[in-house]
Amino acid sequence: MLMRRLADVPAMSEEVNPFESLQEQIDDAAAFLDVAADALVRLKNPERVLETNLTVELDDGSLEVFRAYRSQFNGDRGPYKGGIRYHPGVTRAEVKALSGWMVYKCAVVDIPYGGGKGGIAIDPIQYSDPELERITRSFATELRPLIGADTDIPAPDVNTGRREMNWIKDTYETLENTTEPGVITGKAIDSGGSRGRVEATGRSTMLTAREAFDYLGRDVAGATVAVQGYGNAGSVAAKLLESELGANVVAVSDSSGAVYDQSGLDAHAVKEYKNRTGAVTGYAEAAEELTNDELLALDVDLLVPAALENAIDADLAREVSADVIVEAANGPLTPDADDVLAESDVYVFPDILANAGGVTVSYFEWVQNRQRFYWPEERVNEELERHIVEAFEGLVDAYEANDVPNLRTAAYVVAIQRVLEAYEEGGTWP
Ligand code: NAD
Repeated sequence: MLMRRLADVPAMSEEVNPFESLQEQIDDAAAFLDVAADALVRLKNPERVLETNLTVELDDGSLEVFRAYRSQFNGDRGPYKGGIRYHPGVTRAEVKALSGWMVYKCAVVDIPYGGGKGGIAIDPIQYSDPELERITRSFATELRPLIGADTDIPAPDVNTGRREMNWIKDTYETLENTTEPGVITGKAIDSGGSRGRVEATGRSTMLTAREAFDYLGRDVAGATVAVQGYGNAGSVAAKLLESELGANVVAVSDSSGAVYDQSGLDAHAVKEYKNRTGAVTGYAEAAEELTNDELLALDVDLLVPAALENAIDADLAREVSADVIVEAANGPLTPDADDVLAESDVYVFPDILANAGGVTVSYFEWVQNRQRFYWPEERVNEELERHIVEAFEGLVDAYEANDVPNLRTAAYVVAIQRVLEAYEEGGTWP
């Protein structure tokens, strides 16, 4: 996989501490549940965090030290699961928050995993491929006592992909003198990856939008759509919204800006154009170019934020004219933005459901690895659809049964209940 351009993947906003946002979301949902004090501490804090130095030889013979982290947030429902991020903005707080979100994402779609996340504070475009391989293998060596197909299963995240997953798998297997493809997911197909994995996140976003419009009694065919962030998640979501549901994608953006056409863009053609040129701007078939903020303010039926964390704060949220938001990115709305949108009666279908296709198909990859039996893509997509539709039904049931302010809190109510059940059933070690 090609390394993504670093400029495309900013770190979480400096102003909002992501770990505090996570804890706030858990508190908001726990208020609707009868959660004992000991359990609340567990729900809000990681079980353990590895923080380590990687000392790696660079091509010129010098040594450099990189800070690296792995947070294992909660393993009550199964092995810790979550990606590995390479970005200069990686911090202990960010990794802890992302690992917690994984716990609740896995619980909301009811796959048998806990949550984890890892990362290295590094600007990967500054390093050669051999240097990145040595850095990755050094990290894999540090991770070796913690990870395993039954304990903690990493995956790709920002600036990592199949290549890094294959290096981690190879390092682990060499050191353990075994073959264990299920130690990591997001691998290349020939190394034990699953069909349908690359499209899985955008597919779950499309399925969530389909169910959301159905739930709201609205027609998704012909609905106008704006997509903020035209990378893996956003472009696949746009293409599937268009090709499978007949929605009308009118605007898409990336870090270069936005393109807009009231009569509709061709989502496939824009993606091909971006693949060729590196940006959506300049796409000649579009009627207009907009700024990213102007895209967020468009009067569309559906807005899909698919770029980065904390992309929409309270000020931007006040400008939003869309009726429905389906979150493809992780944490694209700040907690204040959530409040503004709830007051304006905008329905926000949360990330922990809408982008859970990625981890759900990672789960299928792991199942296939354990069985050493590989599924055709149709089966992957069918099983994914079943998980997302059932999770959607559970979410709206919880929304209607509890006096919660928004669908995000309802999602956390469902997820927290599942984690608590596993904790309580496990009992307490004396
Ligand atoms: P990506 O790097 O492929 O795409 C991100 C896109 O956002 C790029 O096109 C970039 O140009 C654009 N972007 C960056 N800054 C922007 C800005 N200010 N305004 C508009 N666009 C901007 O990344 P991705 O894999 O598609 O991930 C996007 C989001 O989805 C992240 O939050 C990620 O955590 C989340 N996510 C992805 C997956 C997955 O499987 N890819 C799974 C779960 C969650």
